[in-house]
Amino acid sequence: MKKRTLIIHIVVIAASIFLGGRLASSLVSKQGKICVSKPMESKKNLFGVNRFAADVQWMLFVNYCGTINSVNAENAPIIYDKVKSIISNNPDFEQAYEVGSLMLSVESPEKAVEILQIACENPRLKENWKLPFLAGFIVSHHMKNKDFTRAESFFQKAVSRCSPPEPHVVSALMRAKAQKLLARKNWKGIPVTSDKQALLCTLIDVHMANIRSQDFNSPSYNSPYSSIMSFGKVSLPEKILSTAQSLKAEEKDNPNVLPTIEKMKAELFAGAHICENCLTPYGPGDKYCSACGSKVQPYGLCPKCGAVKKGAFCSECGAR
Ligand SMILES: [Zn+2]
Ligand SMILES: [Zn+2]
Repeated sequence: MKKRTLIIHIVVIAASIFLGGRLASSLVSKQGKICVSKPMESKKNLFGVNRFAADVQWMLFVNYCGTINSVNAENAPIIYDKVKSIISNNPDFEQAYEVGSLMLSVESPEKAVEILQIACENPRLKENWKLPFLAGFIVSHHMKNKDFTRAESFFQKAVSRCSPPEPHVVSALMRAKAQKLLARKNWKGIPVTSDKQALLCTLIDVHMANIRSQDFNSPSYNSPYSSIMSFGKVSLPEKILSTAQSLKAEEKDNPNVLPTIEKMKAELFAGAHICENCLTPYGPGDKYCSACGSKVQPYGLCPKCGAVKKGAFCSECGAR
């Protein structure tokens, strides 16, 4: 009897080991599918508790940060190593990317961007726009050799990840594009010499691309701009006009400003009713600009009696 019980026990143990092994191997392959960032995790398997280890490391890191006064050349490599270790144990640790790269952004911007680059490639974090935005910001503000093409691609990623895009993210993207244009020094044959002029030219180009992307027959349909860019409640044409207004007011001595504005009017505002002097739009029947008092060319008047027309027929004399 005793011997029989022993045999049953051994059979049950053997069967459990076999089934357990099968279940474990099928779970491992499923884990890769369920958790898409699993391949980014450290290959050193800490008995399967890497993510718990990352939490402990994070607490120790926060504790370490409390002991230093400022980030300097001495402790930056230590911070970098600690953050790298945390994100290799838990590649989905958004706060570690954010805090780590912010701490390194001034002392060691290359390392900060390297950390954020890893975050940008993590499919689990594909909805996070703050991390690519931060990367673009560090590339365009803190790096010695500012690479605006790289900054642009980070900002582009941030814009594509938020819907509707945050106005300051769109602004950052436009500024990176403008810096690229400023480096080329030329826009449609006009010399580009200032930040604001470059920004205006960029906004015009993006708006033109927006218009083209609305056209199904255009080869650029479905371009990255096919979702219309706007600055929150301010539309792109409004932003273009306000940028042109402040450019005209601030850079009176810049000989390239007026040709740029003339080109803008010809390409975007042909037939639009805009004050020649201050570029403010005016309404039907207006004889003077309400913003600067300049004389404007009136429109929307009845050809027979000169009253402002409100519809198809004149409300004063009945003429069509
Ligand atoms: Zn005006
Ligand atoms: Zn009339």
